[in-house]
Amino acid sequence: MTDCSPLAVAMEEEESTAMAMEVEESPSTSIAPRDPPKIQRLEESVVNRIAAGEVIQRPVSAVKELVENSLDADSTSISVTVKDGGLKLIQVSDDGHGIRREDLPILCERHTTSKLSKYEDLFSLSSMGFRGEALASMTYVAHVTVTTITKGQIHGHRVSYRDGVMEHEPKACAAVKGTQIMVENLFYNMIARRKTLQNSADDYGKIVDLLSRMAIHHNNVSFSCRKHGAVKADVHSVVSSSRLDSIRSVYGVSVAKSLIKVEVSSGESSGCAFDMEGFVSNSNYVAKKTILVLFINDRLVECSALKRAIEIVYAATLPKASKPFVYMSINLPREHVDINIHPTKKEVSLLNQEIMIEMIQSEVELKLRNTNDTRTFQEQKVEYIQSTLKSSRSDTPVSPLPSGQKTPKVPVHKMVRTDSSDPAGRLHAFLQPKPHNLPDTVSSLSAVRSSIRQRRNPKETADLSSVQELLSGVDGCCHPGLLETVRNCTYVGMADDVFALVQYQTHLYLANVVNLSKELMYQQTLRRFAHFNAIQLSDPAPLSELILLALQEEDLDPENNEKDHLKERIAEMNTELLMEKVEMLEEYFSVFIDSDGNLSRLPVILDQYTPDMDRVPEFLLCLGNDVEWEDEKACFQGVSAAIGNFYAMHPPLLPNPSGDGVRFYYTKTSEKSSQENPALGGNVEMESVLDQDLLSDAETAWAQREWSIQHVLFPSMRLFLKPPASMASNGTFVKVASLEKLYKIFERC
Ligand code: ADP
Ligand code: MG
Repeated sequence: MTDCSPLAVAMEEEESTAMAMEVEESPSTSIAPRDPPKIQRLEESVVNRIAAGEVIQRPVSAVKELVENSLDADSTSISVTVKDGGLKLIQVSDDGHGIRREDLPILCERHTTSKLSKYEDLFSLSSMGFRGEALASMTYVAHVTVTTITKGQIHGHRVSYRDGVMEHEPKACAAVKGTQIMVENLFYNMIARRKTLQNSADDYGKIVDLLSRMAIHHNNVSFSCRKHGAVKADVHSVVSSSRLDSIRSVYGVSVAKSLIKVEVSSGESSGCAFDMEGFVSNSNYVAKKTILVLFINDRLVECSALKRAIEIVYAATLPKASKPFVYMSINLPREHVDINIHPTKKEVSLLNQEIMIEMIQSEVELKLRNTNDTRTFQEQKVEYIQSTLKSSRSDTPVSPLPSGQKTPKVPVHKMVRTDSSDPAGRLHAFLQPKPHNLPDTVSSLSAVRSSIRQRRNPKETADLSSVQELLSGVDGCCHPGLLETVRNCTYVGMADDVFALVQYQTHLYLANVVNLSKELMYQQTLRRFAHFNAIQLSDPAPLSELILLALQEEDLDPENNEKDHLKERIAEMNTELLMEKVEMLEEYFSVFIDSDGNLSRLPVILDQYTPDMDRVPEFLLCLGNDVEWEDEKACFQGVSAAIGNFYAMHPPLLPNPSGDGVRFYYTKTSEKSSQENPALGGNVEMESVLDQDLLSDAETAWAQREWSIQHVLFPSMRLFLKPPASMASNGTFVKVASLEKLYKIFERC
């Protein structure tokens, strides 16, 4: 039910177009120009069918409604049988209180319910249903037969419904306690919907998933679900007093074994009263997809904000197990939940949702951190950037890196320009061009990123007092007002290359993402000190060449060849210096340099984030030049700051191609055009040609950065950043508008 995959979304969209097509079947085929079409009242059956299609979107939604009805009827045993993914048959049998004979005639009319009689009842409702719409809807899009018996009756009754009404008087029949509802030929009269569903993977998997979720929450009810004719049930739960037992019986021993109990009980003081109890998986549970089984006031719902929030905590604390299994049951005052927002009651809207989510996040984080000691690690492969470097200049080739494979020659127009006033090119131009037949345009480079086992005992590092002092320094400088802003702000979008627009309460701020990310990376480097996972570069890159490259880039007078020798010397010295520090760099910072002087590993500072490899040379130069190696604390601070600067979300080196920036991607060609076009003769007039490859690289780099800012930087900042007081005055945060004032201005207009 929590299937939010793009596929599911696409399905829904397809369905709505299918719906639209069905509705448009009415006559309006005249050709323009034409008179305004006549407005006519839709027949009631058409209206009902459209409404029904909204409540019952697919077989699994019918099952959910039927099972909820059974639960509302105090059943202790519910069994579901499904044929053809639910399109042919859905049958739900329960042992609940049954339906009275005299209610059968109106049972399937719209808005007939036994659960609500006046609007105010909505706020004290404890049942799942209340709209009296589900059964009616089913009769408009399927054939429904109900067999039921109430307590004290000698026989039951069976009756079939179509379009909300009984097809015949209820017939007496033998019946066992409770109600059995049969829904046959679902969407028989909605051809497009039926076709779409038939073409997609059938709903049986979704139905099994639904019942599994229901079964672990309602552990006082036994559930079963099977395909029609099958002997073995795919879900089979027995009544059990322990939630963990029911999870074990439904999801298996290995899931149950890796669960940690979580509980939050908020006091009234927090402004939102709620209780949460549940289970979350530990580091031993590794899966491809997050499972969040969420019940709010006993109703199975979805809450994408909570799911995302939990995923962020896992990504930060247990990156290898970042797709958790989570069961949560939240109870809060009924008046704080608006279940009425969605006809299928699937997404709920909660009062003070943000505060709740934050409290749950902290609790989960705490539990995960406490159990971290027992974590086991698994290797994982992640798409990453391959740093295959090529020669820096056409005239002074730097020897190719020992990548083991020949890299194609870089076309002249892609060579780096050493004119420092021209920001285009730089290291980007040395990187291996991406093969054009690859559909993946996300990154022009790729490499393996593998997680490396943590080698040190966490407790040992906690004793390194210098790191502790640096961290206390971070805490001490934290500005409470900014902290509040960072935790609760909403990202609006990028205002320019460096500033993001964010909203906090009714204020709009410009936030400098470079400063913020640099500080966040610095702080995270200290927090993860000696506990980094590693990014493995697929092709180790020689330090001396990288440093030389950085020196050349810094140089304002690149044509002066005499300086080259000097630069090489500086590069050599810096390399020697770093080679002396390799052990320390590896052990504490996961910056690994092999014995041949090749950089081959970098630390993971934020999960899901890879730094811009164009900045490696600058980083190494900075390590060599700016770090105070002799004093322990200053050294750790210096290296962390260098890493912070390297990983910060700087604007990509290629200029922003949107707007005016596109002119950087026009290259001047002359000879080529005159040769190709003899009519031009000796005309050597320059012609501008758009460099599509470079442009698309630039577009990708900028789009990727913006994605990272929104999806990695801001969520991580909310969790981890302690903004220093200096940020309040150094232009990192600038208030640009107050919405109240803006509204006032608009009112006057
Ligand atoms: P709602 O659940 O919103 O009231 P439904 O259309 O789902 O509306 O059901 C209409 C009514 O039918 C319910 O209010 C309930 O009284 C009755 N009903 C439906 N299913 C069952 C069942 N399995 N056992 C007993 N009563 C049921
Ligand atoms: Mg119902």
